[in-house]
Formats: sequence, C-alpha cells, structure tokens
Amino acid sequence: MNVYDSWRIAAMLDARGMVATKDVADADIIILNTCSVREKATNKVFSELGRVRDTKKPGALFGIVGCVAREAGATAFHRIPELNFVLGPQSYHRLPQILDDPDTKLLNIDLGGLEKFDELPQMVHAPTVSYIPIQEGCNHCCTYCIVPYTRGREVSRAFDDVVRDTLHAAKNGAVEICFLGQNVNGYKYTDENGKTYRLSDLIRAAAKMPEIRRIRFTSSYPTEMTDDLIQMFATEPKLLPFLNMPIQSGSPDVLRRMNRPYSLDAYMEIIDKLRAARGDIQISSDFIVGFPGETDSDFEQTLEIARRVRYINSYSFKYSPRPHTAAATMPNQIPENIKRERLAVLDNALNEIQREFNESCVDKTLPCLCEGTDKTGRHLLYRTPYMQQCIVAKPKDDNIPTMANIKITAANRASLRGKIISD
Ligand code: SF4
Repeated sequence: MNVYDSWRIAAMLDARGMVATKDVADADIIILNTCSVREKATNKVFSELGRVRDTKKPGALFGIVGCVAREAGATAFHRIPELNFVLGPQSYHRLPQILDDPDTKLLNIDLGGLEKFDELPQMVHAPTVSYIPIQEGCNHCCTYCIVPYTRGREVSRAFDDVVRDTLHAAKNGAVEICFLGQNVNGYKYTDENGKTYRLSDLIRAAAKMPEIRRIRFTSSYPTEMTDDLIQMFATEPKLLPFLNMPIQSGSPDVLRRMNRPYSLDAYMEIIDKLRAARGDIQISSDFIVGFPGETDSDFEQTLEIARRVRYINSYSFKYSPRPHTAAATMPNQIPENIKRERLAVLDNALNEIQREFNESCVDKTLPCLCEGTDKTGRHLLYRTPYMQQCIVAKPKDDNIPTMANIKITAANRASLRGKIISD
C-alpha cells in the first residue's frame, strides 16, 4: 500500500512539473512516506528526518506522510521544529497546499476515507505490475495491530472507479494487476441500484482486459475467503495460483488473544477448498512469534501448522508492541531473547519448506513475468506465478519478452535459475 501511495505522490508532483532526484541535497521537497506497523520502522523515521534536515538545501521543504505521521500528529513538529508538513495516509493529496504556501506548517491526519483517490492525478505510465487499491482500513481489530487506528475503519472504493483505474493501468503498460487492501477480500461495494460487488467481480472485470495477463490480490483475512472468491481460482486462469492468507499463529489460545476468531479447523477447511479449486495453488502467510503469553507449546503449534500447510514466501516477525493496541498492555510480555530464538527456529523451518518447493520446480516450465535486470545488467529477473524470483541470462540480441515460458534449470532457497523456452 505504501509503494502505491508513493507512486501516486510522485505522479502528483510530476503533474506540477517536478522531477525526481536521488540526491537529498538537490531536492526542493523531501517526503518520507512512513509505516508504523512495526516499532523499528517508526523509530527510524525521526532519526532519518534529522538527517534530512541536516542535509537538505536551505529553503527545501520536508515532511512526513503515512502512518507514522498519523500516529505522531502535532508532536512531530515538537520533535523536529523545522518540519513543514505532517500528513496522514488519507490526507497526502493535500500536499500541493504546502507547495502553494511554503511558509505554513501543514498538519492533517484526518481519516478522510477515499477522497484522495479522486483528487490524485493518474500515473502517465503504469508499471508492468500495477497495484490498484480497492479498499482501505480494517474492521477486524486484531489486538496487536495499529492499522485500524492509522488507516481507520474499512471503506471499499466504488466498483466503477476501480475498473476505471484498472483499465487506465492496462492501457498504459500494466500486464499484472495486484488488487490491494488491508482486508482485500472483505471488499464490498453496493451501488445506487442496490447491486453489491465483491472482489470476485473485480477479478472478472480485470480478466476481460486483453492487456492484463496476470491478476493477484493481497492481503486476505481467512474468514472473508468466500466461496465465490475461492471459485475464481478454478475458473479464471489469469488469477495466479498464489495467495497470501495470514494465519499469524498456530495456537488457538494465541489466536483468541489476538482477537482472530477462527478455528484451525475452519482455516484448514478454506485451504482444502482452495486446493480443490486449483490443485497447484500455493499459500503464503504472515507469522507473529512471541505474542504476549505465547508458551513453548503455543509456538510448537505454529511450527506444526507451518509444516502442515507448507507455506511459501512467508513473512515472520517478532511481536512488536504498538501504541493504541490492546496487546501492548497485556501481561506476560515475552522477553526479547525468547522472541529472537523462536523467530530463528520458525525462519529455519519456513526456509526449508521454501527450498523444497523451489527444488520441486526444477525441470518444470512456468509462465513468468519480467521485472527488469539484476545489478550486473547481465541477467533478467522474472517472477513465477508463485512469486519466486527466476534469474535468466540476458539474451544477446536484447529481445526481452515481458512474459515468457521459462524452463527451470536450478533452484536454491532464495531463487530459481532458468532459460527462456518461448514468449
Ligand atoms: S486483519 Fe490485518 S489489518 Fe486488520 S486489524 Fe488484523 S492484522 Fe490489522
């Protein structure tokens, strides 16, 4: 979501005739787009702002947007008095105000809903993989999560607006669409005639656009995985056989304290339905280890579910107490050294599963999407339908197919190697 927000901010500045520079000392405006999901990222923001203040040229404007801005509010100006603007994740479309009136201090951390999507200019060139936000905010209120505070309650964008943005991306270079939302499969929009649209309707609409070859969505909440959506994996070949559906913990006790009210049986039933719909589907998850009160046995259950589902491309983190959340004040906070040990054990298990899955792809031919070259410029980086990176020698004639069938020749934990068979 932050990557998408940054693109839209860049497009907005572009429309005002500004050009991007990598050199802070050269910039007329410096914007830090920030994430507050984990404590470490939040802490980095203010030290980075101090560095920007000391490096920028006199008169250059600088400030923060995004979730740390929403969380810090006016206190950001107390910590760094030279800051020019502090704008929350739903107010960054107000940035032009500071360009028009650079002598003011601009503060807006309101949860304005979807206004920003209407006010921002479209990107002229859409990236090959284009993110299209379809909803913002979340109603689930997991006890560790700051998102309901920073991004507010769930709001779904109008179906026609999302289709219009998808079509714009398709006509301007997008080959893959990734529908985005904090609770993406909770998307629900009812138009003025009373017709309700779900994520499955958006997938169907995007699949009809000939330029779009691949569709995916992230991030899903398990109990919102409705049958109409699961069926899309059976009927829509453009929908990639890959799904991020975080379980967070394999312990029913921990899930209860996290306020994630699904049973492991219900979760596994969804996985079974997904696999029945599309035999080759692969599932990814997010995990939190060291949640308050997590016992050795709770952690063992997380390892068990990871091995049972055989998640690939997963994200695992140590629990990080966030302000405005219930879990931050729960008793039995887990010491840092135990969190660290458990994370290492889980990461090892997930890495081993990933390596085995990658090796199982050797000798297969997979349709892959080109994402550019590596740092040496001698190799092309492709993305498989399961989101693995596949490294391919760059053809001498510089004929680089955007989509190619690639025969996988080797694999390790981190990536695949392959050769282009056809495009
Ligand atoms: S479902 Fe996701 S975004 Fe919503 S509160 Fe839970 S962790 Fe946060």
